[in-house]
Amino acid sequence: MDGEIMKQKYEPVIGLEVHVELNTKSKMFCSCKAEYFGKKPNTQTCPVCLGLPGALPVPNRTAIEWCIKIGMALNCDIPLESKFDRKNYFYPDLPKGYQISQYDQPFAMNGSIEIRNRQKAIRIRRVHMEEDTAKLVHEFGNQNAKIKDQKYTLIDFNRSGVPLVEIVTEPDFDNAQDVKEYLQKIQQIVRYLDVSEADMEKGMMRLEPNISLHVTRNTTHGKNNVSPVTSHLLPSYKVEVKNINSFKYVEKAINFEIDRQAKILDEGKTPVQETRGWDEKKQITVSQRSKEEAHDYRYFPEPDIPPFEWTDKKLLELRGQLPELPSKKLERFIKEYNLSSYDAEILTREIQTADYFEEAITVSKDRNVTPKQLANYIINRKPDLEKTLPVQLVQNIIAASKTATVDEKHLEKVVQDVIIENTKAVEDYKKGNEKVMMFLIGQVIRKLKEKVDVNIIKSEIERNLK
Ligand code: ADP
Ligand code: MG
Ligand code: ZN
Repeated sequence: MDGEIMKQKYEPVIGLEVHVELNTKSKMFCSCKAEYFGKKPNTQTCPVCLGLPGALPVPNRTAIEWCIKIGMALNCDIPLESKFDRKNYFYPDLPKGYQISQYDQPFAMNGSIEIRNRQKAIRIRRVHMEEDTAKLVHEFGNQNAKIKDQKYTLIDFNRSGVPLVEIVTEPDFDNAQDVKEYLQKIQQIVRYLDVSEADMEKGMMRLEPNISLHVTRNTTHGKNNVSPVTSHLLPSYKVEVKNINSFKYVEKAINFEIDRQAKILDEGKTPVQETRGWDEKKQITVSQRSKEEAHDYRYFPEPDIPPFEWTDKKLLELRGQLPELPSKKLERFIKEYNLSSYDAEILTREIQTADYFEEAITVSKDRNVTPKQLANYIINRKPDLEKTLPVQLVQNIIAASKTATVDEKHLEKVVQDVIIENTKAVEDYKKGNEKVMMFLIGQVIRKLKEKVDVNIIKSEIERNLK
């Protein structure tokens, strides 16, 4: 190649489909209870959510309003007209042969959300409303089972018809860590809105990443003259990964898939467009379905539900019901209470903590307790906020400051010294070796003149490592 070294480099291209189950009282199109977790199978069903012929769906107004609020919180446009469509496909979890979903007129579109401390924006393509399907439980028959030594599948219709919001991004991610942060943001926002518990482990929030690798050829001329050729075209294929049922596997599953595709591209081949499943036991992705391009859902407008028309007044009313959102609150806490971004981030992680903190500020006025002291106390001592009234908390702080157990300035100085003197240990800890923390705590205790609670020392070390 004319003395040039051709090296293939890959840039991951990732787009996400996230499903969030709403915690409305009733299901999306019938009056059955929506909460199904841990309930006896098939006890919360009716002709509508079983998909019996002739049953008529009646849309859940609250669910639709919540879907729109999610759209608003994700900076979407809310079109004044919207409708439901039938998405036709055959699968045993959907006996009526179609899912009521939204096709070309979703409730919300063209939004965005910022990650990496506002360094990057992820575009949100659409937010739409649909119904959940029944839950399939795959079993294997033991000696005493009716179906011996065979696989069989049970169906639980309690989940069928539960309101589901789907949030689809543009393929704007290029690494797994950002995906995780985005997911945490989505979870935080829907919890702030109080529309879903969004617990991944309980299937209330589900993630399907679409992953491909963009090939950039870096032509190296002799020394270090690198000219990456980046094209804005998307790769010709994408792989959808399903079954990521836990936060802790989000990065693992995506990184596994990136490596798998890179190896195929290294061999000069193109990965197959397909749906793969994350196998938690083996920690790999496995092929589930290919021929993805063959899917044709034959969407058409749902004839049993008239289209929706919103007025500006109605949308304004919904917007007025939104709480202050996490990013705004974080910014305000830093400005208004003079907190570090680290402290403000912890206090705004959950809206309950943030509200508690502000209540405590109100009752601490005229008592010489500063917001900073309150923040320190909540973050370092981690009191049980559900069992302590803000007034009590403030009294505890006043009592603690009278006995002056912790000289915070001194503690901080010692912690910083220990961090500087133990660079190797600190590095190990940052790489994930949690055991090193005990060592660091030990070093701090040795240097401290007073007795300080281990948890406080630990928090102080963590804070100084940020
Ligand atoms: P489909 O019609 O197969 O569902 P879409 O174009 O609607 O495909 O996209 C579904 C998701 O896949 C979106 O989140 C989108 O951002 C993402 N996506 C599209 N093309 C790619 C690609 N080449 N690589 C990774 N993700 C992609
Ligand atoms: Mg799709
Ligand atoms: Zn029902």
